[in-house]
Amino acid sequence: MTTTRTTKQWQEADSKHFLHPFTDHQALAAKGARIVERAQGVYVWDTDGNKILDAMSGLWCVNVGYGQRELIDAATRQLETLPFYNAFFNTSTPPAIELAELLTEVAPEGFRHFFFSSSGSESNDTNVRMVRRYWDLIGQPQRQVIIGRNNGYHGSTMAGASLSGMSGMHAQGGLPIPNIVHVEQPHWYELGRDMTPEAFGLKAAQTLEAKILEIGADKVAAFIGEPVQGAGGVIVPPSTYWPEIQRICRKHGILLISDEVICGFGRTGHWFGCQTFGVQPDLITFAKGVTSGYVPLGGVMVGERVAKVLIEQGGDFNHGYTYSGHPVACAVAVANIRLIQRLKLVEHVRDDVGPYLASRFEELRDHPLVGDTQTCGLMGAVQMVKDKASGTPFDGDLAVGMICRAHCFANGLVMRAVGDRMIVAPPLVITRAEIDELVTKARKCLDLTLADVK
Ligand code: PLP
Repeated sequence: MTTTRTTKQWQEADSKHFLHPFTDHQALAAKGARIVERAQGVYVWDTDGNKILDAMSGLWCVNVGYGQRELIDAATRQLETLPFYNAFFNTSTPPAIELAELLTEVAPEGFRHFFFSSSGSESNDTNVRMVRRYWDLIGQPQRQVIIGRNNGYHGSTMAGASLSGMSGMHAQGGLPIPNIVHVEQPHWYELGRDMTPEAFGLKAAQTLEAKILEIGADKVAAFIGEPVQGAGGVIVPPSTYWPEIQRICRKHGILLISDEVICGFGRTGHWFGCQTFGVQPDLITFAKGVTSGYVPLGGVMVGERVAKVLIEQGGDFNHGYTYSGHPVACAVAVANIRLIQRLKLVEHVRDDVGPYLASRFEELRDHPLVGDTQTCGLMGAVQMVKDKASGTPFDGDLAVGMICRAHCFANGLVMRAVGDRMIVAPPLVITRAEIDELVTKARKCLDLTLADVK
């Protein structure tokens, strides 16, 4: 243990001074935070010395796992050489240039230009400004509306939270901002079990076309979606969904933004989720996995259609952040991408641990609490239901997901609960033996949850 205070002392100081994201502080003060103080590989340790399998990669980000020496050395070297310089006013830095160059190797075909930020939320704010600037420049300034999806997640800034389709977020702070609307999510188990997944995928996608026609295609700037909805509960769309979205966007000339903050950098078994689903977006949002979360970095990959107009006709794009192209973050991203390449982690997910997680999750379907499981690469979900045969959900007030999450923590496993859906996204370096440990612990926690609720 490396801690300098007792857990209780950390908890007291924490609840006195630290306002946490997405947290009820009364509830937190009553329980005390779990204080995580170190990590290695796929495990974290708390201040009581408990070793916990981190099946959420921190917050969907630690793709290469914890403690990777190359990333630590890259950050240290860059901090010693040049801890900061900006990219405004005709200046640049070697790490930012190297990162942009390296991204051309791993980005989907046609992506040759990259704008940097420090987070996914900022990157989606950039997207809103960039697509509106694009339409302005080509003489269609009335194209202002951006269409997202119910239960999508695109961040927590004013634009990010507006693009997100989370009612709990919209209820606070007067959101969404104008000209952002939402359509149906492709959540077959919740919304479409009266038809085949394929038929439902088409139906869900066609809500986009209906919305475009309602608004008028000449007013719509872009559609944004996550290839697999992450924060919404690891909702893997039916195979028919994305091709239909692509068709509709093309038919109406609308820009397609693939928000790959979670799906990017190997998570789905390809470098990017749009490749897993065979879609060619115009813009790609990235963050998290680009540095494996070791330092903050995000950005937008800008496809040729938009880049050409911005560069050749745009003049100044009056937009940017102090930390756009931060040299330490970019140096870590370069080391991280080279490590993903060297360890062949994308192939590891696609050919080995992704299919293995899928088969082990399918085994959980025999559990009395489990109505459905889904996986895509190294993302997985276990849907808990009150009645397995009919798929009837539990009463929300029972907070069954929270009960299960607490059992997971107490038994050395981080799984997240979205409603009654337990989700995982472990580091891409995870082994089959570690997946066995994950699934064994998950089953035990399902048993404990069942004993509590039945
Ligand atoms: N977009 C997606 C798909 C995300 O999952 C997230 C965060 O989880 C964001 C955007 C926001 O990223 P950040 O929290 O880095 O601002």
